[in-house]
Amino acid sequence: MKIYEPLMLAMPLAKWISKFIIENKKLPTGDDVRKFLKENNLEEICLDEGLVLHRGKFVLTLTFPAKEHLIVDIISSSGELSDALEIIAYHDRKLEAYVIEIIPANELEFEDNIGLEPVIIDDKSFELKSYPVLGHFEEEKDGVFLIIDSETYQRWKESGKLDICPICGAEGVAWRRNEAYCDSCGFGIKFKEEEQ
Ligand SMILES: [Zn+2]
Repeated sequence: MKIYEPLMLAMPLAKWISKFIIENKKLPTGDDVRKFLKENNLEEICLDEGLVLHRGKFVLTLTFPAKEHLIVDIISSSGELSDALEIIAYHDRKLEAYVIEIIPANELEFEDNIGLEPVIIDDKSFELKSYPVLGHFEEEKDGVFLIIDSETYQRWKESGKLDICPICGAEGVAWRRNEAYCDSCGFGIKFKEEEQ
């Protein structure tokens, strides 16, 4: 997994949170998030009651765990705020679902949701009720790719939005076999059979 900017951590983190909720039937705690961040090479630089700060080469994260929700802010370590993102995971009692959203600090640049749709998980069956497209990033010879698993690809196909970029929301994603490319943000997208 490569993390050069906040987005490249936000998408895999949102995916991890959604898997965690489906498997454990509850929101992850601050300790669970710390474990995920450390496993992905972010160093813990501050640990205080209710607040955790991690630093990677390119990003900084602030984690605010609470009983009913979880907030993770991701900022470039350069201090640039334009690409900062916030992940919010919460239990929505009205919707009777767990919701995970990735919210950009600079909303004007994004035409759609990052990951196409927020993650919505039914709080009784723990099944996905939306069509989020999330994955992690890898650098290959011909560029940086969002790697999605085949289950995610199938859901994306069902949603009828295969031409919309899950990273920047632009239309006109061009597919060639199991690979796609977005002219707007410059990322590639690939689906692979096995789960990472
Ligand atoms: Zn794009």
